[in-house]
Amino acid sequence: MAGLDSAVIGLHGVGEERAAELSSIGIVTVRDLLEHFPSRYEDYRVKDLTEIKDQERVTLQGTIYSEPSVRFYGKKKSRISVRLVIDRVVVTAIWFNQNFVKKHLSPGKEILVTGKWDRNKLQITVNEMTEVNSARVQTRGELAPVYPLGGELTHTLLRKLIEQALKTYGSQIGEVLPAEYIERYRLMPRQKAIATVHFPANVEEGRMARRTLMFEELFLFQLKMQAMRRITRKQTAGMAQSIPMEEVRQFVRSLAFPLTGAQKRVVKEMLDDMQADYAMNRLLQGDVGSGKTVVAAIALYASFRAGYQGALMVPTEILAEQHVQSLTALLEPHGIKVALLAGSLTAKRRRETIAALQEGQIDVVVGTHALIQEDVFFERLGLVITDEQHRFGVDQRRVLRNKGLSPDVLFMTATPIPRTLAITAFGDMDVSTIDEMPAGRKPIETEWVKHDQFPLILERVRGELARGRQAYVICPLIEESEKLDVQNAIDLHAQLTHCYPEFQVGLMHGRLHAKEKDAVMQAFAANEVQLLVSTTVVEVGVNVPNATCMIIYDAERFGLAQLHQLRGRVGRGAEQSYCFLIADPKSQVGKERMQVMCETNDGFELSQRDLELRGPGDFFGTKQSGLPEFKIADLLSDYKALEVARQDTAALVATDEFWREPRYAHLRAYLEREGVLEGIVFD
Ligand code: ADP
Ligand code: MG
Repeated sequence: MAGLDSAVIGLHGVGEERAAELSSIGIVTVRDLLEHFPSRYEDYRVKDLTEIKDQERVTLQGTIYSEPSVRFYGKKKSRISVRLVIDRVVVTAIWFNQNFVKKHLSPGKEILVTGKWDRNKLQITVNEMTEVNSARVQTRGELAPVYPLGGELTHTLLRKLIEQALKTYGSQIGEVLPAEYIERYRLMPRQKAIATVHFPANVEEGRMARRTLMFEELFLFQLKMQAMRRITRKQTAGMAQSIPMEEVRQFVRSLAFPLTGAQKRVVKEMLDDMQADYAMNRLLQGDVGSGKTVVAAIALYASFRAGYQGALMVPTEILAEQHVQSLTALLEPHGIKVALLAGSLTAKRRRETIAALQEGQIDVVVGTHALIQEDVFFERLGLVITDEQHRFGVDQRRVLRNKGLSPDVLFMTATPIPRTLAITAFGDMDVSTIDEMPAGRKPIETEWVKHDQFPLILERVRGELARGRQAYVICPLIEESEKLDVQNAIDLHAQLTHCYPEFQVGLMHGRLHAKEKDAVMQAFAANEVQLLVSTTVVEVGVNVPNATCMIIYDAERFGLAQLHQLRGRVGRGAEQSYCFLIADPKSQVGKERMQVMCETNDGFELSQRDLELRGPGDFFGTKQSGLPEFKIADLLSDYKALEVARQDTAALVATDEFWREPRYAHLRAYLEREGVLEGIVFD
């Protein structure tokens, strides 16, 4: 018998063409159709005029009472108005720049209009109109679902198809959530939830149906994450490092400063994992400058004392070199040999380094992800630390982990991630957060100015440079075109060289050879170059404490998280630092983002605001976000359910029943389909 997995093309009214359109929005099977959930509801309940608040969005039903009057002004602008009688009250309905509606507005007709209500003028500004005797009548006085559409598809068609699919196949919809959760959270049975989400009788019912399906979606997602987490732990059983804790304490005491409370906490979380009988799989997040490097150094020290080698993987060579420097300073006095593995090494040095690693003469290696993953073998690898992990999705992480050994793995990111996103994008991991800055930091002063004030800013920077300080100028970012970014940097470099004849102006971008980049960075670090024009390659990790100014050109093109990263390049010394955002944002959101940057230096607050302003999809930028797309759940408003689902699924996969009992078979099948169980042998 044809089931939920049969093609929509079998439905009444769906031919080749329709089927192609449906498939363009992801609907191929009947199941897809039924799970094509409305993104919202239009409230077509006709309201009592006296109940409507000023500026509220409403739908009104009335009879057209006058001929429409049309006024034109400007070139293409028009205003149509008509009088409507609603409950014996005459109100005005107006349309802006919608000439085509005029022919539908004949007196005596009954219409539904949706728009914004002006309570004083008894007037509605219409966005949407329906004639009452047309197709929408069926939802009159109710809620009408609004679907994501595409091509020539209409709501009327979708509703008809869904109605048909429900009639024919509705009884085949089976439960997904185990009964205990449906009961505990008072959810609807799945069959009812799906029917109701498409055709709710009232607002409350629609809400309950949505709540059920939202929880189901988050539950399945978290089930996958928690199962992965559990399986990883099982597979890596036996990975306990025996760390001499007293020596680690001594190492910590030998540092130039006491750890912050947050650093102490995350060090403990980390060492507990490393000592436990499974491989660590932990995300360490902390704002720029919160002291992650020291924490990483403590872990590497501990692993060394337990008899293992460690690797630190970073995204760029510049960063690798900086880490080698800081780790050498911290670790070499304790007899730990730190080495760099970079593309810039000569072939001979590279061979020697790799050989030394293999023979165990090097204790800690630092290099780019690519280098370390490619051709390095270790004698006894115990700990891998990787930086800027937000650039990779869940699946890439598993590839890394599945490569041979199962060392303890710590992922570090300097992008503070709001908790909802952290447990989503990194749901298969444990999360440690450094949410406290070392004492005595001077907050960076951030100012936002328009382009026409760029010369003024240049003068202020000149003053700083004259006092012996240094500055960065970050070039406009052109989405997807590194070539244009580089050209921008070259142009700006020429302009500023001309503008500051008394100073050395350096240029840095991704098209330079590793050696050239090195030379530029070294010149800047040695203050032979005072002003560094750069593309965003300086974003991560660069540390030049004498640099106190940062100008970010076309700042509206950057996300808040990235601006914050860039800004983190200054404010590293004892002097007051400044960040100037040059931007003419057009949108309100763009303006707000600039303001938020000026208001706070707290990365977590910024990231939360960024999430609210841009939405989860854009948070990490478009590439490799690692975030799943949800059909119905919303990470911003449903974060509590996400948390609950996480706890429930973690508890569920920890039971033997889950892996054994028939009533969970469909959930195990789901994990199988998602590839989570690959290579697993049930015992
Ligand atoms: P992150 O890697 O998180 O950006 P770093 O580890 O580079 O930060 O630390 C930034 C600076 O703060 C470094 O100069 C480091 O020596 C210093 N630092 C780290 N932890 C502390 C602390 N607890 N007290 C004082 N200074 C610290
Ligand atoms: Mg361990």
